[in-house]
Amino acid sequence: SSRRDGAVSENLGVVLHRATKVLKDAGIEDAPREARLLVAHVANISRDRVGLIMHDSVPKGLAERFEVVVSRRAAREPLSHITGTRAFYRHEFRVNSHVLDPRPETETLVEEALKRPFARVLDLGTGSGCILLSLLAAREGTMGVGTDISMEALDIAQQNARDVGVDAQSNFISSNWFSDVDDRFDLIVSNPPYISLEEMPHLAPELGYEPRLALTDEKDGLCAYREISGHAITYLDAHGWLMVEIGQSQGQQVSEMFKTAGLKAIEVIKDLDGRDRVVIGQRPD
Ligand code: GLN
Repeated sequence: SSRRDGAVSENLGVVLHRATKVLKDAGIEDAPREARLLVAHVANISRDRVGLIMHDSVPKGLAERFEVVVSRRAAREPLSHITGTRAFYRHEFRVNSHVLDPRPETETLVEEALKRPFARVLDLGTGSGCILLSLLAAREGTMGVGTDISMEALDIAQQNARDVGVDAQSNFISSNWFSDVDDRFDLIVSNPPYISLEEMPHLAPELGYEPRLALTDEKDGLCAYREISGHAITYLDAHGWLMVEIGQSQGQQVSEMFKTAGLKAIEVIKDLDGRDRVVIGQRPD
């Protein structure tokens, strides 16, 4: 509707349509969905209410805030950094530039872990805490320790533990892999940095906003697995399980390391896209 002063107050449908084109031109695949999520964020409404106000005119302040977040996203800042949260498994997790953005394929690791009983779980390089906290929330009475070398990550993980309601079940410690761990666990999980230095220049632009140390070991992408598998037996209870996320081409090499470490029942598990994603192995006795 045109106003007498000539300024045009557009309805949400028009504003969304324009934003969708901006996002699409920036190379974002599901631009319509992301535009709606960004509107829901700035308007502070739930995402499924956006459709109901499509014909309402957009107040100036809201239009301006929306324009700002759309241009941030068009510069390929991750959606989760703009909204501050990311859905993973059964919960919403706080996310910022100090932690790896939880990814859907990592739910494969969570689901694999939940196929077996466990009482005490260790998550090495916990980041947002999404793996550990999902496991603890799914199993009442379990306890877990999350480690990270980033204090900022540990702070986010701690906040997420409170949000998810498993504060009393979890403990977070600063540790370089096992360096400051001194208990034993019946389940050890990790999604370590596994991108090789050579692969780093070829990643999606969003990964430039994530902590580099959560993505790459600056070498061949396998350093964390050498470290973790090399010491896992010491920190596993008899018959305890080690489960790590891997890159799609690393199944063979990581399985070999698990074997060399003395683990048995080694398996490579695929994600929903059919790519090798998780390696599991059990301490024999
Ligand atoms: N799965 C992530 C990616 O390829 C990498 C995360 C990691 O190194 N653990 O984008």
